Amino acid sequence: MKTLPSRRAGNVPGRFYVNHECIVCAVCADVAPGHFRLGDDEEGNIVYRQPETESEIADCREALEGCPVEAITEVPE
Ligand code: SF4
Repeated sequence: MKTLPSRRAGNVPGRFYVNHECIVCAVCADVAPGHFRLGDDEEGNIVYRQPETESEIADCREALEGCPVEAITEVPE
């Protein structure tokens, strides 16, 4: 089984999360501001609200694909 990247502290539980590779470029927060923001430690972004609708999931996947350092993971449900 493939090992998943570790979650940064502050991500809410759920299918999407930001790992420690984040370089705080802010792309994810621009693409999906309802789900991604800078973490309280200001060392990386986090998922602060998980998507609930198909549209929100699509927004989060767009953020994942736009991340330049593959710092966003979607866990299969
Ligand atoms: S797009 Fe990726 S590198 Fe940029 S802030 Fe979001 S998680 Fe971090």
